[in-house]
Amino acid sequence: MITPTTDPQPADFADVRATNLAVVLRSVREHAPCSRADIAASTGLNKATVSSLVADLIDRRLVRETGLTENRVGRPATMLVLDGSPYAAIGVEVNVDYVTAVAVDLSGERLLSWRRSFPGATTTAAQAVATVAAIVRRVVNRMAREERQVLGLAVGVPGLVGADGTVRVAPNLGWRDADVCGDLTRALRDPGFPVRVDNDANLAALAEHRFGPWAGTANLVYLTGEIGVGAGVVLDGRLRRGGQGYVGEIGHIQLDPFGAECRCGRLGCLEAVAGIGAVLEHPALSPAEVEIELDEVVRLARAADSRTLSTLAAVGHNLGKGVAMIANLLNPEVVILGGYYVPLAPWLLPAVEAELRGRTIAPDAGGCQVVASTLGYGAAALGGAARVLDSVDSGRLPRVS
Ligand SMILES: [Zn+2]
Repeated sequence: MITPTTDPQPADFADVRATNLAVVLRSVREHAPCSRADIAASTGLNKATVSSLVADLIDRRLVRETGLTENRVGRPATMLVLDGSPYAAIGVEVNVDYVTAVAVDLSGERLLSWRRSFPGATTTAAQAVATVAAIVRRVVNRMAREERQVLGLAVGVPGLVGADGTVRVAPNLGWRDADVCGDLTRALRDPGFPVRVDNDANLAALAEHRFGPWAGTANLVYLTGEIGVGAGVVLDGRLRRGGQGYVGEIGHIQLDPFGAECRCGRLGCLEAVAGIGAVLEHPALSPAEVEIELDEVVRLARAADSRTLSTLAAVGHNLGKGVAMIANLLNPEVVILGGYYVPLAPWLLPAVEAELRGRTIAPDAGGCQVVASTLGYGAAALGGAARVLDSVDSGRLPRVS
């Protein structure tokens, strides 16, 4: 909301100011380096208001002057960029075979990125909370040593996550009704920053929407290519969650009534016939083992091994059926394949494209492209950090310390 200063002062002036600070902050993020006049032009706020808001943002070290000026007619304009270096946003992903932690500063600069093996399939939610809490404490200590204020933490989990951060069902982890958010907050002893838990695909979609090559694309779907397959859906510029937050469980749409058994107990689910488990000889559990097996699959595919190529083509066709459903239903501009799909993309994509084009009613698949993610295995964790930064953008600014 932008309030012209000629209007009578609204009742809740502090709220309006916080909102306008966020508006200016977003404008700097989108247009930096930019001048105060540029901000006034792009936001519709008047120049005096912008100057006052910018001064506040500089005080909070969210924005800084570059020292460079842009020469225009009249006075040279001092250019502004995001600062945010005194702040950190933390994202963590818990998955079947690994835990990843990422911290970024406000401008999205990667401060750390850790990945370690994790026996998710045999670990209870309580044990997972203890593991995540231990990792987060290490990240927080590192941030404290670097004199950064932690703005928040968001943890991605492959499962249905309610708005309160309760994991309702995580079939690949074997969790049910686990209050991961509450337990984690307690394990961190009320850390003084917000703790959120979200679906891993949702967070990965936020990471793509904020940091990836398709950043800012209004209609984008991210498909996780892990042991499970889930979709994160951004439509009209916003992550879509649905009635209870369960949008995107495409992994459990039945593609083949006679297909392989899925971990959810049903037959022929998309993730059973198009997930990484359908590619590997042995559905190994540690990421190191999965990566070794994947390297071998890639090597064989490069060597044109016929069995490998036909497996990848079959998985690609199954995956393409799923992508076509997404395209028919949601009309995204891009479907981004993440996780273990990335190294396999050169062999999967031709079959995916063929199914997409053959199964969509709209000409040219409704403009939908399918690409491999460039964010790597840390996408969901990076998305956790993106979710924290998004909350800053929408007005939850850090306190002045
Ligand atoms: Zn299933």
